[in-house]
Amino acid sequence: MTELQSFGLRLADPSAGAVSRRGGAGPSDHKAVVVDGHTIMVPVHTSTAWHSPFTAQAPDAQGQSTLTRGAIPIARISFPKQPRFYGMQTFDGVPYSHIATLHGSDVLATTVLQTCIRYESRRKTCKFCAIGQSLAAGRTIARKTPEQLAEVARAAVLLDGVKHMVLTTGTPNATDRGAQILCESAFAIKAAVDIPIQGQCEPPDDDRWFARMKAAGIDTLGMHLEVVTPAVRAQIMPGKASVPISRYMSAFEAAVGVFGRGQVSTYILAGLGDTREAILEICDALLALGVYPFVVPFVPISGTPLEDHPAPTPAFMQSILQPLGQRVAAAGLRSGDIKAGCGKCGACSSLSVYEN
Ligand code: SF4
Repeated sequence: MTELQSFGLRLADPSAGAVSRRGGAGPSDHKAVVVDGHTIMVPVHTSTAWHSPFTAQAPDAQGQSTLTRGAIPIARISFPKQPRFYGMQTFDGVPYSHIATLHGSDVLATTVLQTCIRYESRRKTCKFCAIGQSLAAGRTIARKTPEQLAEVARAAVLLDGVKHMVLTTGTPNATDRGAQILCESAFAIKAAVDIPIQGQCEPPDDDRWFARMKAAGIDTLGMHLEVVTPAVRAQIMPGKASVPISRYMSAFEAAVGVFGRGQVSTYILAGLGDTREAILEICDALLALGVYPFVVPFVPISGTPLEDHPAPTPAFMQSILQPLGQRVAAAGLRSGDIKAGCGKCGACSSLSVYEN
């Protein structure tokens, strides 16, 4: 799985299963693939994937596909089906799939605000991010209202049995940094349907937002470091690096006090210049605070400034995920104990496979 996520996958039949994910905030250009009962997101639209040794043959009548490495069959895989809620639209004609999408096999995910102060200038933007691309391509809308999110969440739970929901957002300002939008959204969703929710935003300027988010119905919180070495942060995400690591750490501590150990997480993109040692060192500090460090392989997304940046090698990922999985388990912060969100879903990294 680690190799598949690093190299990506070529598809003999690109229409197999649910449509793949392009653009949006955070990682993209993936397709959900079920391997050995684990659903993982595998790059399929990146230039690395076009040269991958892995190919998925066209699915048979049961939806099963043979995974080959070179010419050698190595596994049977399948693709989660297109969810039924994708066939619906709001009264004013917005397709539900433009409001939220299925991630992994049972996660409903949405970027509540598809614009970002970090994206207004190419000089300040996070170079890995494609938040503006799906909007420009007409695959989503700029701002999902609380009512729209509640309507789609209810349908996705009733029709497709989704188990938890991720609300991420572009950063709208330099004060609450998205916390307010997440509160309004979660409140409306929880009034419509009982589903665990993860909110994801930059650390707000005031720790009181954590209690407000929890009171609004957010069960777990993600504040994503992405990269961890100061010089690499300044180079890869010059705008977001204006919030220092020290603020992330104080925010993590305050958030764990509200949401509980293991219910606060961060996303770290391995392969953008941080060393293995730098990543493991900050993960140790995060684990000591009770924060789940979700380390994922960087995926170079087409159309971003980093589209030609190489994906990390499987050996590099294993050298981080193997010791990290043991440390996560030793700290008692396993993926399976998280109520909602990326760490629980686990599809963008094979970390949970190493948590024995
Ligand atoms: S880990 Fe997060 S970003 Fe990746 S598929 Fe799951 S919910 Fe989506």
